[in-house]
Amino acid sequence: MYADKVIEQVIGWRRDIHAHPELSKHEERTASLVAGVLEGLGLEVRRNVGGNGVVGLLKGLRRGSHPPAPATPETRGDLGGSIKYKTVGLRADMDALPLNEDTGLPFASQTPGVMHACGHDAHTAMLLGTACVLAGMRDELKGNVKFIFQPAEELNPEGGAPGMIREGVLDDVEGMFALHVWPACETGKIAIRSGSVMAASDRIFLTVRGRSAHGSRPDQGVDAIVIAANVITGLQSIISRSVSPLDSAVVTIGTIHGGYRYNVIPDCVKLEGTVRTLNPSVQDRMPEMITRTARGIAEAMGGTCEVEYVRGYPPLVNDAELAGAAREAVKDSMEVIIPEQPDLTAEDFAFFARERPAVMAWLGCRAEGMPLEGAPMLHNTKFCPDEGCFAYGIEYFVRSALAFLNK
Ligand code: MN
Repeated sequence: MYADKVIEQVIGWRRDIHAHPELSKHEERTASLVAGVLEGLGLEVRRNVGGNGVVGLLKGLRRGSHPPAPATPETRGDLGGSIKYKTVGLRADMDALPLNEDTGLPFASQTPGVMHACGHDAHTAMLLGTACVLAGMRDELKGNVKFIFQPAEELNPEGGAPGMIREGVLDDVEGMFALHVWPACETGKIAIRSGSVMAASDRIFLTVRGRSAHGSRPDQGVDAIVIAANVITGLQSIISRSVSPLDSAVVTIGTIHGGYRYNVIPDCVKLEGTVRTLNPSVQDRMPEMITRTARGIAEAMGGTCEVEYVRGYPPLVNDAELAGAAREAVKDSMEVIIPEQPDLTAEDFAFFARERPAVMAWLGCRAEGMPLEGAPMLHNTKFCPDEGCFAYGIEYFVRSALAFLNK
């Protein structure tokens, strides 16, 4: 496999990054490690892109791969024959989570309260390994490879991708590939879906106001708790009655706070929740439907409801053509699965995928023989991807990039 010569180094980087996790927007050490490796490979490196982001550009040397001037929409395209100038973007995320690690690993987090529990340490190490492999294959590349290491993936709704996009990271990029370690699948398998892959994740904050009264005299007040109960039920009716049964959406109220004493009708209840959607047009309709429903119910009952709707990451949609190309590229190296269903978690790679054709693959990372039941999942304090999956991740990155550039 392509990773054979670099795998020891990749495991070393991953363990080093794992032992020194950094929270979103604080990825200085990780970014510095990444930039140092890319510079050592002779890539053009930009640091501090959209925060702690790092970008490395590898220029292919295969005959005809370079246009005479930097690529712009005008100079891109057919350049002297059938060979097209292209740049493919490969992306990894670098940040960790505010969790106390409980894996017992010899290279466990040395920073209390911070842990790589979503595998971004593995993503970063795999993409560095990919850069090593492709830097040794310059002569075979008919275009450029841009290595994009982004900060702040865990920082919904802000994220790290939008800042990098604003700084022009995608200007010359025509297609993108990323992966996420996926403990539901065993090492050696990769799951690549076309179309919807992950959900939009928005947040809602509702404040119901009524009028306080003695618990024995409801007629003298406006009961914010009864209003809140009706609002919650009403919000579920949006899913069942206003969203197509062929589209998926979720409204979950996760917190409810109100009341002072068992025999007092309260004047205020606060609710917080999350809204998940897969179809961008359903996401667009949600703020209005939720606000109208909550306000209407509260007003009908003599109270009010303020709604704050915070849009988070957009839905992540894989480009069908690129997904097919990636599956074809790796099918002789690993077992390819086409998942029947998307996942309602969210990923800020969706911001990149909204701008360019892109693919997010789910890389199996559960050690062979470990039962699925009880296996620690993402964001679990015991989560630890099998290092055996790294070679497959690098294989996916390398083969997808070659397929994209050299087709
Ligand atoms: Mn993640």
